[in-house]
Amino acid sequence: MSDLLSLASRGLTGASWSAWVLYFLATTQGTIVAVTLYLHRSQAHRGVQFHPVIAHLFRFWCWLTTGMVTRQWVAVHRKHHARCETVEDPHSPQVFGIGTVLWRGVDLYKRAAANKDDLATFGAGTPTDWIECHLYEPWSWLGPTLLAAVSIALFGVVGVALWALQMVWIPFWAAGVINGLGHWCGYRNFETSDTSANLVPWGLLVGGEELHNNHHAFPASAKFSQHRFEFDGGWLVICLLRWFGLAKVRRVAPALGYRAHIQEPDVETIRALRVQHGRILHDYASSVIAPILAQQRFGARSVRRLRRALANGGRWLDPSTRSELAALVHARRYLTEVCDFRDRLADMTARNRRDISPLAQDLRRWCTDAESSGIRVLVEFAERLKGCRVVEVRAERPTRPSLMQPKP
Ligand SMILES: [Zn+2]
Ligand SMILES: [Zn+2]
Repeated sequence: MSDLLSLASRGLTGASWSAWVLYFLATTQGTIVAVTLYLHRSQAHRGVQFHPVIAHLFRFWCWLTTGMVTRQWVAVHRKHHARCETVEDPHSPQVFGIGTVLWRGVDLYKRAAANKDDLATFGAGTPTDWIECHLYEPWSWLGPTLLAAVSIALFGVVGVALWALQMVWIPFWAAGVINGLGHWCGYRNFETSDTSANLVPWGLLVGGEELHNNHHAFPASAKFSQHRFEFDGGWLVICLLRWFGLAKVRRVAPALGYRAHIQEPDVETIRALRVQHGRILHDYASSVIAPILAQQRFGARSVRRLRRALANGGRWLDPSTRSELAALVHARRYLTEVCDFRDRLADMTARNRRDISPLAQDLRRWCTDAESSGIRVLVEFAERLKGCRVVEVRAERPTRPSLMQPKP
């Protein structure tokens, strides 16, 4: 009897608390890696392709530890990118409020995943093999149930607590923190058309997903980090798998380069304006708007706050704060001028026509006007802008023979 009681309380392993913590961290981190690498970077955005065995391991692990269905996750996420910050965005804090997305992100996800039309529109290209149609999708609840059984068998009553924690850990970090706070606070490298932000520069806890602004700027990039000081844990795993020939990187975000002594904007400048508009607009806010704000004797904190608001023309402010901002700008000549130049630049970056000659004309006029403005920081920016170019980052080749494709 006492043996049975001991088995129920300690499980088959009789493990100590350090083993519980290790088990919990290993399984939750495994799930985070499977979600960011397989569901997000590979299935939703096609930035990386994994060896079929690795891809299936990830798919199985997602089913076992979360019960999430690949097609549903991909459809909800692609819709988030396609309808970002509108009423159709499945989980925008701008629409639902940060509290709802942070604490009830799972409910928003479930509601979005039940939309059959969206599954057909946004879920294309996800697995439809036998195991998906007969096990993973119709029996999605079975995965977490099996995990509960394994957890209880291994650790007894503690296994119940560990399993319950696992069940809330991933939804909280992925659906709550990344979808919520990732569109609410943090720093930006790119002036994207949404509110995405990088939560911290080191993507360790949530597999690199913390770099959410970088991801929104280049969704199809397999690598989320952009600066030397940033770290993308998911990219490290991709590099390891690639080294073993088990992953093929399809796309990596390009960088922004500068050429010296370019007299007139040329085709390379226009390409940079189109591909790297987020970075260019961000640089404009940092190197033109911020110094002008600092000159107006605003404090460092106010400069940061105003720079962030003016970087997108106050787009995300409520109407009364936006009109206060407009009044503040119009009362200051240089600030008005650089904000007008920003609006013209933003208008050019938003154009998506094939015919580039009107854009080239406007860009030339913009540079000429900026250079004759007499505002030193604006003149320097125009000089740099003319020399902008896109630097392609090649998805490097694996250093070992790839297992992804048979040899000819
Ligand atoms: Zn997002
Ligand atoms: Zn994405």
